[in-house]
Formats: sequence, structure tokens, C-alpha cells
Amino acid sequence: MGDHSRTIRLLSLSLIAYLLVTMTALGQVKAGTLSQIAGFFPAQPRSYEQVSQLLSQLDRTSTLVTVEAIGQSHNNRSIWLATATDPDYPSDEKIRLFVIARQHGTECAGTTATLALLQYLAAAPSDTEAKLLRYFEIAVVPVANPDGCVAGRRTNAQQMDLNRDWGKFTQLETQAIRAAVIRHQPHAVIDLHELPASSRNRSYAENFIETIGSHDSLPALLCANTVAASRNISYWMKGYGYPLNVYYDYPGDSLALCHRYWGLSQGIPSFLCESKTGAGRSLQERAGFHVLAILGIINYLGRQQLAPVSPGSEVVVAARPPQPPPTEIPLTLAVRLEPAASGDNDTNLVVHTQVEGSGQFSFVTVNVDGVTKLLTTQRNGRYALDTSRLSSGQHSISAELCSEFGAALSTQQTTFIVPLAGVQIAK
Ligand SMILES: [Zn+2]
Repeated sequence: MGDHSRTIRLLSLSLIAYLLVTMTALGQVKAGTLSQIAGFFPAQPRSYEQVSQLLSQLDRTSTLVTVEAIGQSHNNRSIWLATATDPDYPSDEKIRLFVIARQHGTECAGTTATLALLQYLAAAPSDTEAKLLRYFEIAVVPVANPDGCVAGRRTNAQQMDLNRDWGKFTQLETQAIRAAVIRHQPHAVIDLHELPASSRNRSYAENFIETIGSHDSLPALLCANTVAASRNISYWMKGYGYPLNVYYDYPGDSLALCHRYWGLSQGIPSFLCESKTGAGRSLQERAGFHVLAILGIINYLGRQQLAPVSPGSEVVVAARPPQPPPTEIPLTLAVRLEPAASGDNDTNLVVHTQVEGSGQFSFVTVNVDGVTKLLTTQRNGRYALDTSRLSSGQHSISAELCSEFGAALSTQQTTFIVPLAGVQIAK
């Protein structure tokens, strides 16, 4: 990292708190950005062949988008990397984002979202997009698993789940993408997925984002970025009517998942974004979730890194939701614990949070022994807890009801006891 970027980071770090409470005043609100991008969504998911044709066309016709093959799949299909940026401005002075879609071959919303974003940026319909690509370089792998995409299955041609291969890198696809990420040195990595409607895990009941939590053993700037960015995204999602849970990862969690590898092992702010599938959740709606997640991270990084040092660059806040949710009281928050129902396979204790009252709020956090595990934008939140990972003895659960910028409006606390193995608690 050069002295210049270090200066930017130090400056921006000290200004995060200030910016978080003043940004609504900055920039112009532009409500139409999501709908403009959504205008590029196809009615049906594209085939791998159609994706390749579209990328080739963008490469030929736009000076702002370049496309290259970063490797081949097991069945010899190209793994495409598309990069959107204004080539007249140096790459090493830009904020660089690396977006990975479709490690799981059936999950088409991320492909749809990233292609539409590329088409939108390539068309540069206004000065906003032109400025965005002057300050940002957005690298995209729209189909990380070409063989799974063609075969219509989750795994690659080797029957391997690519998003369990990070850190090990036994597969051609993960090897190629890892090399491309290292070459791009991104400020953030975004990994786009979809949640099957059939999943029985309670944690997977709704759209969610998983990112790195705040922890003493992790770089402070990493955690500041992931926690603040996830709050910003939740604000966006709520503003656009998407329910969202945010889960946080900590040291000790498996590094075999892409976003954890880049976050916990390599210190790069990283985000797993999962849109829920199922009845009533169209491709367009699911792809919209992914577009918003990407825009939310662009928005956050732009505010955090550019606004302090480059006045006029607040173009990147242009796509905020049209109406920020007001934070009026009265509101009340209740917390309730209950044993997991039979059939839940990821939990044995469920924490319920319930917000009551007519006022608006931004999100509720659930904290176990002071460590934030969940951020939810929903009035009725649920966190599935696996107490087998906790030591025996008393533990605390707290929940905080928060305004837009994370100020606590109300706090509730309760405790529970994890018994020693084999020891019954007297009733
Ligand atoms: Zn997936």
C-alpha cells in the first residue's frame, strides 16, 4: 500500500463517525438508479452461451468495459472476468471492487445482477456513472462455475462445491479466481449466492448478508469497514423494501467459504450476499437484491474513502433510497428464548426479537456475550444459536433496537445457562 492510500485510509477512518451522521445531506438523491439497472434484467436467466455472447459484445462496443478469460473450467469453458472502469484514470488510485457470482451453478440471480450492472455502466447514461467509473474499478466474474451453470447443478464438473474449496484451492475455478483477486488487490470482495427455498435451516429463512464481525484479533479497519458497510446496506435494503438479516463471522469459523477466506485470512472486507428463492420471489426481485448489495458497498466505500479527500465525488451516494426511514420513538423491543423445534438442524436455542410500536427503526442487533451475531431489519427477528459451541455456565443475550446510524433506541438483556455435558439441570 502506498503512502497516498494509507493517508486516505487514516483520514477516512477518523471521519467515519462524522460521515455516518452527515451523509444524508451530501449529494443528490437519485431514486431511479436501481430501476434503470433493472431495465437490463432479462425475463429468463441467460445460458452460459448467452452470457459469453453478451460479454463479448460489451468488450467490443464499450471503452469502459473489458473482458478477459482468467482461466478454464474442468470442461474447458472460459471463466470470464469483466472489468468496468474509466481507463483514462489510473487503476491504482481507484477504489477496486471484486464481485464473484455463481460459484453454485444453479444460482442465476447474481449473474443477472452483475451483467445488468455492467450494461448500465457501459451505457454511461449520465454524468453520475461516468464519475463513478473514474473513481471505481469494478471487476466481475459473472459465472464462476461455468460447468455447473451448463449442467444445471450446484457443484462443478468434479462434483465439488466450489464455495467449500477456498483455502484449499483444489479446483481450477477457485485457483483462477483467487489469482485474479490477488492481481486486482480489491478494497472489497463480494460473493453473490442464492438461498434455496427448501432450506430447513432457520438461519436461512430470509435474504441475508454474511460479513466479518468486530473482533479484537482482527485488523480494526477491516471490522470498521465490514460492520459500517453492512449497516449501510441494511439501510438501503430496508429503504427498498427488502427484508435482510446480517450475520457476522469471527476467527475460528471455517475458511473454506470464499468471503471468509478473503476476510478472516487475507484481511479484505468481504461480503457473502444470499437472496432467498421460492414462490413470489422473481428473478428480477432476487437480482435487485444483489444490485442493491453491490451499490450499498460502492456507496459506503465511496463515502468513506473519497468524500473526505475528493470534494465533488459524492456522486457515489446518488443511489440512496428516496426516503430515509424516520427514527421516531415510541418503540419497544422484546426478547424471548425458546428451544429449537425438532427438524432444525443448525440450532438448539432460538432467540426471538420483536419490535412493537408505530415508530420506524433501522435494525435490531442480537449479541451473545457482547459479540454481535445478527443484524436484522425485520420487526420479528430470529437468531438460531448453537449452544454446543459455547462453554458451560451462564451466558448473556442482549438485543439493541437501532436508529439509522446505529444509535441504540432501546436495549433488552437476558441470560441462559449452558449445562455441563451430561449434567441435567434440576427443574
Ligand atoms: Zn450458493
